[in-house]
Amino acid sequence: MANPPPEPDLLRPYGDPEKGVANNWFRVKFRFTREDILKWMKDVASKNNPNCPPEELRTDDHFKFLLEVYDQLESLATGGENYEKPALNKHKCHIYRELNPGYGPKQTQSKLVSDYLVKSWTNNYDSGPDVRNINLNYWCIYDLIGLFLSLLGSAPPAADRNNYFLPLTAVYARWCSRLAGKLKNKASQAPSDPGVGPIPMMFQCTWRDRKDGKGKWFFLGASLGGDQFADNPSGADWQMKVQMERFRILREHQQTVMVRDGDFNSTEPEKNLPDGTGNLWGNCAETYPFVQCMDAFDVINSNQNVQGLALSKLFIDQKKPVTDYSGYADDLIWKSVRPPCRNCGDILRRVQANQDLFAQAFEMDRAPLRNPPAPPQDAEVEEGFVIRDMKEPLIQEMVEVTSN
Ligand SMILES: [Zn+2]
Repeated sequence: MANPPPEPDLLRPYGDPEKGVANNWFRVKFRFTREDILKWMKDVASKNNPNCPPEELRTDDHFKFLLEVYDQLESLATGGENYEKPALNKHKCHIYRELNPGYGPKQTQSKLVSDYLVKSWTNNYDSGPDVRNINLNYWCIYDLIGLFLSLLGSAPPAADRNNYFLPLTAVYARWCSRLAGKLKNKASQAPSDPGVGPIPMMFQCTWRDRKDGKGKWFFLGASLGGDQFADNPSGADWQMKVQMERFRILREHQQTVMVRDGDFNSTEPEKNLPDGTGNLWGNCAETYPFVQCMDAFDVINSNQNVQGLALSKLFIDQKKPVTDYSGYADDLIWKSVRPPCRNCGDILRRVQANQDLFAQAFEMDRAPLRNPPAPPQDAEVEEGFVIRDMKEPLIQEMVEVTSN
């Protein structure tokens, strides 16, 4: 097989001073273990990282806030204090919770009543000059990890899907799987201990230009997760409670109309279309990012330039683990990018965003191919043997991808 073309160097986030493709922050951090991740975050929050966050965010208040968010997410990681407790009927999970006083003895309790109520931390999203500074409730580890990574400064002006936001979202998803949840494939789980419930189906990044032209603000979030809802003795009700809280984030904090009172469990295209997924408003990974990013649309503030990408967990949970970040368009990470679902498509229309900038294949043509297409017919006469060599690994790779 011919050697693949070199992968392009990625931009350097979070003040990364390292040189060389292999030492790039995204590539190194993709391989981090649970201990590495927690140490890096703790160092950042404790002023021990001289490059991160950047100067404009190195205030005592911001470090205090980062430390709070760190403590919250660490307490919900597998083995953490709020992961372990309260645990009714030995049921632990990655959602901040309290016991439901209305929940009776297990033997007589109706399955329609949940053993837990969602408890939450109110986090003020203060991360830069023109970032919306609002209070949002957080209770799930996956969204808290996204929040932490979104509070460490903006992306450089040249950041795009390939050189920044796809690797960022991939690292975010990877870190989530290292700190919480359980993977189907044991080989991908190692070296972390399994937590409870599958990791979120989807991870999302939404970004927009800074108003001062000095880069791009970005916001990360994950779809509903944090528990094994299906096997929970009061599963349906607990999942619905968490889902309703996510809807409340959308409805109460939106800057421009995305959803209305009474929409929940009623107007979702994914619920009402015959081939829909059944997903409700607020289920999606876009929930927190859209609340932060989608502005009231007027002459000055436009959502037309807002961009985003959703990445499925496909590449995380593999029989043969994906150990390194790869930016090739025909590798599994790029193949895990997904278009917005129809609920999110509806929201994008309502806020007058440009859906093309969220499309599955947007900027895919800028990524190199590991296996470039065979040369045109006239070249085949001269170099037939090369073409045969290149086709076989392609077929083999397709089998690996679809067999999960
Ligand atoms: Zn969606």
